[in-house]
Amino acid sequence: CGVIGIYSQSDVSKKLFYGLNSLQHRGQEASGICVFDGKNMVLDKGMGLVYDNFDDESFIKLNGNIGIGHVRYATAGGSYEYNSQPLLAFSKNREFALAHNGNLVNHKSIRKELEDEGMLFQTAIDTEVILSLVAKYYTGDIIEAVKKTMSRIKGAYSVVMLFEDKLVAFRDPYGYRPLLIGRAKNGEVIIASENAPLEIIGTDAIRDVEPSEIIVVDKKGIHSEFFEKEKRQHCIFEYVYFARTDATLDGVNSYNFRRRCGEILSKEAPVDADLVIAVPDSGTPGAMGYAQESGIPFAEGLVKNRYMGRTFIKPTPEERELSVKLKLNPLETVLRDKRIILVDDSIVRGTTSKNLIMRMKKAGAKEVHMRIVSPPVKYPCFYGIDTPSRKKLIAANYSVEEMRRRIGADSLAFISMKGMLDATLMKEDVFCKACFNGDYAVEPKELVEYEK
Ligand code: 5GP
Ligand code: SF4
Ligand code: MG
Repeated sequence: CGVIGIYSQSDVSKKLFYGLNSLQHRGQEASGICVFDGKNMVLDKGMGLVYDNFDDESFIKLNGNIGIGHVRYATAGGSYEYNSQPLLAFSKNREFALAHNGNLVNHKSIRKELEDEGMLFQTAIDTEVILSLVAKYYTGDIIEAVKKTMSRIKGAYSVVMLFEDKLVAFRDPYGYRPLLIGRAKNGEVIIASENAPLEIIGTDAIRDVEPSEIIVVDKKGIHSEFFEKEKRQHCIFEYVYFARTDATLDGVNSYNFRRRCGEILSKEAPVDADLVIAVPDSGTPGAMGYAQESGIPFAEGLVKNRYMGRTFIKPTPEERELSVKLKLNPLETVLRDKRIILVDDSIVRGTTSKNLIMRMKKAGAKEVHMRIVSPPVKYPCFYGIDTPSRKKLIAANYSVEEMRRRIGADSLAFISMKGMLDATLMKEDVFCKACFNGDYAVEPKELVEYEK
């Protein structure tokens, strides 16, 4: 998911809309905006893309100087309208509005506890547990309520919240999902999942919201406090795939990272070929890096339909195959009689690579050597990325050689874990890599049991 919050002296609805548009890659299922109009919260949300969900009428309705927004990519809870965000609740004669990116690992037991106390839930998502706890623990000091909430919830959360005339944000102690804050010269403050909305709407002095940091923005300015700290676990998959190529999150630039991964992989797994081809868009910087380091020319061999969006979460294998077909088409004039190195950012189920290799060969490619600029994905993510259960992960069930055969490649190689970590240029390993090595810093016991 993607979140944004803006505190301003003027109407923020259009800015939230533009900001959400630049976070659209983080979720295409639903989108929503909630503003505080000086008296009440006004909420507008629904299924579908940001661009389709808001028009002039919504901006007239959404009139306020403080607001939050959300784009949804479903992990916990199905793809239904009632699961869209922001969530808005009334409690203790007050309104609480909240939007969340991440995934809690203990929301089921907390929900049960709250249900046993008589609380009713309107949605099936873990986010509602956060909202309910904040409202429950509020006794006059919002920071205290957030701290108490943070002591209960476990897992990944980057949250923006509206409360009275305040914009509140908090990030889990591990920093799984990104969150940044920027301030413009006119005093406007923007908090968002990536830097793109901050740069587009216009702020100076951008920084990351720190893991375990709690921020309150109101007429007194920006106030920051910390909850207990843990060892950092920034999601490395953000740089591999999820974040925009222009994102700089927690000190790592995604474009540079992807490009370096390609360079490193070309040294780790060289192969003789005529052309390096990328699976656009997230495979492109890696392919450029591979081409530059190997000296083999980069070429465009797949034409992408830009209007398709990210179609990975389609429910059936047939639909996923069809969507790869609709999204990417091999360019015969480039591929015919050539030996190809095909670079993609990741293999999850193996649908994309299998389908592309088959069709590239049909278009005349002599050989297709698959190179992946991340290690094999062998474990599910419990922190907000929808990598499926082990049954469906091709690398959890087959060796690299068996995978090569199944996707029909002439050779297949993945970057090493060390290579990927080197590409971050960070001196310390501050990353979650659990989907690659099964090393979960926050025990997902409750969810693993549920999955069985
Ligand atoms: P596969 O087809 O092997 O299941 O998935 C790999 C392809 O899906 C890659 O091209 C990669 O860019 C993309 N991908 C990897 N993870 C995700 C994800 O969480 N969401 C979406 N939409 N695409 C993903
Ligand atoms: Fe990111 Fe993978 Fe960790 Fe999930 S398990 S937070 S996708 S690195
Ligand atoms: Mg892709």
